[in-house]
Amino acid sequence: MNIEDKLFTVGYKPDEHKSHLTIKDDAVCLEKCGEQGRPCTFFCPARVYTWEENHITVAYNNCLECLTCRTGCPYKNIDCQYPRGSFGITYKFG
Ligand code: SF4
Ligand code: SF4
Repeated sequence: MNIEDKLFTVGYKPDEHKSHLTIKDDAVCLEKCGEQGRPCTFFCPARVYTWEENHITVAYNNCLECLTCRTGCPYKNIDCQYPRGSFGITYKFG
């Protein structure tokens, strides 16, 4: 079973009104993090972060709530919280 197959085993109730993941300063991603390789685009197991032209997009509806991005961003530039109560991930097999 590959990662894409495993991701199909989790459910997600999205909070349409508020993202629980926020990039604090887009300028840091653009001006400083290029030399670091923008690690959020590869350490996130759910591929939430994507570099598009000059900014990071955040597909927070795919988040697995592992909290890796709290420590993985070299500039501590991601505000990573749990979703509000009743929203977020549901693990089918655990
Ligand atoms: Fe921006 Fe942090 Fe991602 Fe770098 S790792 S691109 S600073 S959010
Ligand atoms: Fe990705 Fe985990 Fe951060 Fe969610 S908490 S965005 S799954 S690294």
